[in-house]
Amino acid sequence: MEACSSTSSSMRRRAQMMCYCNQKPVLVVAWTADNPDRRFYGCPNYWVGRKCRLFQWRDDEICERGKVLIPQQRQRIIQLEAELAHCKKREKFLVVVVALLMVIFVVLCLLR
Ligand SMILES: [Zn+2]
Repeated sequence: MEACSSTSSSMRRRAQMMCYCNQKPVLVVAWTADNPDRRFYGCPNYWVGRKCRLFQWRDDEICERGKVLIPQQRQRIIQLEAELAHCKKREKFLVVVVALLMVIFVVLCLLR
C-alpha cells in the first residue's frame, strides 16, 4: 500500500531562511493538479509584483493516490459548505416564518 510521506525533518531550518529580497519567505499552498495542497516557501513580494525567484517546497511530493483524493475531497468540502450555507439561510427564513405565525396566532387568540 502506498502511503503519503510526511514532512521532512529539515523544515525548521528552511523556515529560518530569507528570500533574495532579504525578507522572511511566506508559506503558500499549491493547488495545481500535480501538487494539490502541497506547501512551499515563496517570496512575500510575489503578490506585489516585486518578487524574487525564491521557491522551496516545504512538503514532500504528493503520492499518486493523494493527487487524486485530495482534489476530490476538497471539491466535496466546497460542495458541502455551499449546501450548509444554503441550509442556514433556509433555517433563518423558517425561524422568521414560525415567529410570524406565532404572532398571528396570539393576535387571533386575543381577538376572540
Ligand atoms: Zn523575495
